[in-house]
Amino acid sequence: MVDSKIFDVIIIGGSYAGLSAAMSLGRSLRNVLIIDGGKPCNRQTPHSHNFITQDGVEPSRINELAKDQVLNYD
Ligand SMILES: Cc1cc2nc3c(=O)[nH]c(=O)nc-3n(C[C@H](O)[C@H](O)[C@H](O)COP(=O)(O)OP(=O)(O)OC[C@H]3O[C@@H](n4cnc5c(N)ncnc54)[C@H](O)[C@@H]3O)c2cc1C
Repeated sequence: MVDSKIFDVIIIGGSYAGLSAAMSLGRSLRNVLIIDGGKPCNRQTPHSHNFITQDGVEPSRINELAKDQVLNYD
């Protein structure tokens, strides 16, 4: 839910890169809007590999976790 029309940063793309940027900005008390089309490049792949702590995890699950963690910051 967007409750302000004034943002410090607007991020286009809300997958891993966008959410990582949003977390850094959120932790720095910036007001951030993320706009995401919901089509990450890895959407066809069933499992993540070579990503420590996330080996074998579904990419969309990693995205959900990232979103939950980003939303911990106002
Ligand atoms: C088939 C495949 C398998 C992979 N497997 C692995 C693996 O096992 N381990 C690993 O470490 N890496 C893997 N990768 C690489 C990893 O998925 C990418 O490095 C990572 O997803 C890149 O993240 P990103 O946020 O830059 O881009 P993406 O995840 O592609 O996200 C970009 C987001 O921006 C949105 N977007 C783009 N343009 C707009 C716009 N104009 N308006 C609104 N939204 C927009 C898209 O909808 C999307 O949600 C794989 C990649 C692929 C293709």
